[in-house]
Amino acid sequence: MTAIAKIKNDLEKILPKDSILTSKEERYVYSQDGTNGMESEILPDSVVFPETVEQVQKILKYANENKIPVVARGAGTNLVGACVPLKGGIIINFTKMDKILEINKTNMTATVQAGTIVGKLQEEVKKQGLFFPPDPSNLKVSTIGGAIAQSAGGPKTFKYGTTKDYVLGLKVVLADGNLLKVGVNTIKNATGYHLEQLFIGSEGTLGIVVETTLKLIPQPETTRVVMAYFDNISDATDSVTKMTDSNIYPSTIDFMDNNTIKTIEKFYHVGLITDKQAALIIELDGLEVSMDTQIERLKETLVQSNADNIVVSVTKEEQEKLWTARRASFSAAAKLKPDVVTNDMIVPRENISKLVQGINEIGEKYGLTICTVGHIGDGNIHPQVALDLNNETEAENYQKAKAEFYELAIKLNGTLSAEHGIGCEKKAFLSKALSPLSIEYMKKIKKMFDPNNILNPDKIFDM
Ligand SMILES: Cc1cc2nc3c(=O)[nH]c(=O)nc-3n(C[C@H](O)[C@H](O)[C@H](O)COP(=O)(O)OP(=O)(O)OC[C@H]3O[C@@H](n4cnc5c(N)ncnc54)[C@H](O)[C@@H]3O)c2cc1C
Repeated sequence: MTAIAKIKNDLEKILPKDSILTSKEERYVYSQDGTNGMESEILPDSVVFPETVEQVQKILKYANENKIPVVARGAGTNLVGACVPLKGGIIINFTKMDKILEINKTNMTATVQAGTIVGKLQEEVKKQGLFFPPDPSNLKVSTIGGAIAQSAGGPKTFKYGTTKDYVLGLKVVLADGNLLKVGVNTIKNATGYHLEQLFIGSEGTLGIVVETTLKLIPQPETTRVVMAYFDNISDATDSVTKMTDSNIYPSTIDFMDNNTIKTIEKFYHVGLITDKQAALIIELDGLEVSMDTQIERLKETLVQSNADNIVVSVTKEEQEKLWTARRASFSAAAKLKPDVVTNDMIVPRENISKLVQGINEIGEKYGLTICTVGHIGDGNIHPQVALDLNNETEAENYQKAKAEFYELAIKLNGTLSAEHGIGCEKKAFLSKALSPLSIEYMKKIKKMFDPNNILNPDKIFDM
């Protein structure tokens, strides 16, 4: 019996036969994720679809006893190769564990299974007047388990924070199959170490999340979206401080550089002004009665920052049109060349124009086409590099440019990733961002939770 047939045979004692995939074609699909250029030649041995916590516990116990690697998988949309099964093994797909177990209006909490789609949760809590703000741009498909594991953020981070700010409690299956409950169901907690935070951003390397209790907040009554253009990038970035000085606190301040504006306009003809160096899309939310005042103040601060062509969209359709333009940046960049690779870095906001300018200079040095977007309220920038990964020179130049992007972000007091994580994509650069002692403690923690190194091995760092 081959090793794969043996694992299948053993897993059939835990799961129904139709919840286990082992054909080469099926395993091939699960050897990759949303990361461009990160395809693994190693296939998983099997892909399983548990429906209960007990099944997940039995799978982990079996895998640990037999030292078989295990990779949890939500929608597979992460951008750092975090789901790629570098050592084969079992992929646990959470598609069938996608239930919203409770939305508690009084406590303002939701308890959900790990495979719950983020957008679905947002829709359901909205029906009760509540709001779950973390909003990775692909929230229509990505899962809560994936968002927790990658510490996902999104455009609304400036005002509302990221996934880590909303996780109150977790149920985690440990490498040996034990079920660990960490955190609480309450909004505040000062009862010992915050172990739940340890699992956030751990990319499935410390334990497998099966359930979580999340904090919710009241749904903002209304929103407005404002777009403004600038002749230079520093005016755009400086405008954020002017907004906060005037007590304006937008939920989103998204940035597009000139190349992005031109590329979107080239392919989608949405009416953007292409000779401007930067554009901001700013979303305000709050009470309807406050909106006119907020908009007037925002416009004043934008004018003080030398912005022009300021457009205010009031109706949902007008707002959607502006957001559609911003969201089209990735697909527009993808039309320039066969491939597009999105990166993710963050610096303190005071250094953001230096980061954007530096990225452009690095792009020019290596002859790369870069469309830069970002969440400038947070200092988080995403250079989207359009290239042909099959062209050896371009692929090599991208690798060199990427290393320089990271060095620049770190030199500017920032770090390697704001919201996409490390996976295998960035692990070679981890020691540039973190001290040796910090990495040593991370490894000690990993060893304690997963002594046999079966949980998503070789991600974040090598043991
Ligand atoms: C078009 C596009 C836009 C995006 N926009 C954003 C954005 O705005 N902000 C942002 O932060 N990210 C963004 N991302 C990245 C992606 O959305 C996030 O990394 C994400 O939340 C992944 O969710 P997922 O369900 O696809 O997880 P997956 O990719 O399936 O998994 C990601 C990691 O989580 C682990 N994992 C999954 N489920 C579990 C579990 N139950 N327990 C333990 N570990 C688990 C996996 O092993 C892996 O390490 C974007 C991606 C795409 C493709």
